[in-house]
Amino acid sequence: MKNRVLEIKKLTKYYGNVLAVKNLSLSLNQGEVFGFIGPNGAGKSTTIRCIMNLINKNDGEILINGTAFDKDNISLKKLIGYLPSEIHLYDDLTVKEMLDYHESFYSEQLCERRKMLVKRLKIDETKKIEDLSYGNKKKLGIVLAFMHEPDLLILDEPTSGLDPIMQNVFFELIKEEKEKGTTIFYSTHILSEIAKICDRVGIIKDGKLLNVETIEELQNKNLITVTIETKQIDEIIKRLEVEVISRNNNQITFKNNSDINKLIKVLSDFSIDTLLINEPTLEEVLLHYYK
Ligand code: ADP
Ligand code: MG
Repeated sequence: MKNRVLEIKKLTKYYGNVLAVKNLSLSLNQGEVFGFIGPNGAGKSTTIRCIMNLINKNDGEILINGTAFDKDNISLKKLIGYLPSEIHLYDDLTVKEMLDYHESFYSEQLCERRKMLVKRLKIDETKKIEDLSYGNKKKLGIVLAFMHEPDLLILDEPTSGLDPIMQNVFFELIKEEKEKGTTIFYSTHILSEIAKICDRVGIIKDGKLLNVETIEELQNKNLITVTIETKQIDEIIKRLEVEVISRNNNQITFKNNSDINKLIKVLSDFSIDTLLINEPTLEEVLLHYYK
């Protein structure tokens, strides 16, 4: 069995009276990329801030490699690379000073890796942090999270603020990390990012984890829809198990719950003007959970 790198057990967090995360449990196996998705305000950042011990939780436990993780546990902290959704750094420092400072916490030689990241993300080390745009701060945040080759990357909305070219560079870096076996907790509200990189996804809404599934399971969900145009709608649907999505004069769209062969046989008995079978994209499948 693979190691459980990160375990969240029954996490609950309130801000005053506002419930942000409720009784959330999930675990990440070594080497997997886990997509943590949910609409704005769902509780993603709160979960991540609790994992990182940046805020106090009301209840629950966080384990890293099977050991309880608290803010004084420096050796576990070193295993983690964290990219916050909003980056607050020392504004007076230059990018170079910030990177030097970060590097000084680690005994390993990080300069080659640092150089590689700075080059690929096109970072200007001479700039002062307070002069960086949001996107450029994000790029610096990526270097800080990736530089020490952590075993576990925790990324909160990592692509926000990045231009499309930098997003591609970022996805390449993620792919390389995945190949190396880094475990990645990837929080986002952008559904299209999930299919690209994640092995499993957890969907969070109103502070509750709704569902955890593999990308394959989601894609295999029998959610195809059939649209037909015919004058014989009533006769056709009488012979099939369908869930009507919309109906409009001679056109009907339905979810087909019958065997696909049966569908074809039944349809062949009638005169059909048009037929459209639509397989939903992963985004459409996921959107179904958001509602
Ligand atoms: P997400 O990252 O998924 O967009 P958050 O974890 O930021 O969601 O927010 C979850 C809920 O907690 C929201 O209802 C948000 O308004 C609330 N919340 C987040 N941070 C605070 C805070 N510092 N004080 C009060 N409420 C907060
Ligand atoms: Mg957030």
